[in-house]
Amino acid sequence: MTARILDGNALAQKLRADFRARADALAERGKRPGLAVILVGEDPASRIYVRNKVNACAQAGLHSERIGFAADVAPEVVLAKIGELNADPRIHGILVQLPLPGHFDSDAVLKAISPAKDVDGFHAENVGALVQGHPRFIPCTPYGVMQFLADSGIDPKGKEAVVLGRSNIVGKPMAMLLMQANATVTVCHSQTRDLTFHTRRADILVAALGKPRFVTAEMVKPGAVVIDVGINRLPDGRLCGDVDFGPVSEIAGAITPVPGGVGPMTITMLLANTLEAAERDVH
Ligand code: NDP
Repeated sequence: MTARILDGNALAQKLRADFRARADALAERGKRPGLAVILVGEDPASRIYVRNKVNACAQAGLHSERIGFAADVAPEVVLAKIGELNADPRIHGILVQLPLPGHFDSDAVLKAISPAKDVDGFHAENVGALVQGHPRFIPCTPYGVMQFLADSGIDPKGKEAVVLGRSNIVGKPMAMLLMQANATVTVCHSQTRDLTFHTRRADILVAALGKPRFVTAEMVKPGAVVIDVGINRLPDGRLCGDVDFGPVSEIAGAITPVPGGVGPMTITMLLANTLEAAERDVH
């Protein structure tokens, strides 16, 4: 079997089709949606992610502000900026690019963002709302994964879903969303004893470990839906996912590529969350 390739660029384009019209409709009411992106330090990958987010805003007709700080900035300075942005009526979404330098308490920074502008969905209040089943903002990467499943006609109901990784950003919210979509969910992590035992049972396998080509064909059930969240840079500079794409695509039923899979969907859902925040603001 050769897997169906789930094309993140195509789906992103489809979902973004009405974003400009929504942004313009809000602008006519004096509320062009605005996103502020805070970047601390010069990490090359983070700089690319931030640039992509700012460009995506421009393409969709959203106002955006990129706010850069030196790596050794005092956390109080960043917290004060977040306070200003919380009160700024032109800004509907605030995002702090992670990871932050070691002298930062990331939780304290995320907690400083107004929950109403927390378009990443990382604030404890928004995490709580997600867990209780009435989310205000769904974290962008797992939100994008759920869009893939919906668009491909893959209903998680009753299926075995296995999530590799338990981070607050991807693994945990992913598991929660799959559970709320009525899958039976297993979450694996670095202390899981027999990983392959679990992955071989998965009808839906989500890999979010940050380990290049970690998931091999032997670990995948024939016909499974394989979602590769990983973004890893190989020594030769190329990007690859957490899944060994070539061999796995020979046996999976559907698979997302890297690049061109989950990545474009993450940015798309960030735009969607920012639009929703602005739309809530006018109603
Ligand atoms: P983290 O490093 O925060 O989490 C990795 C998780 O994988 C941890 O829970 C860890 O377990 C688990 N893990 C690590 N090694 C193993 C192993 N050998 N077996 C089983 N589990 C293991 O990463 P993130 O969740 O932030 O990101 C994961 C990947 O997704 C990265 O490649 C990142 O770049 C990418 N990413 C992509 C996005 C996109 O838009 N496509 C967005 C966000 C992230 P433990 O908890 O025990 O340490």
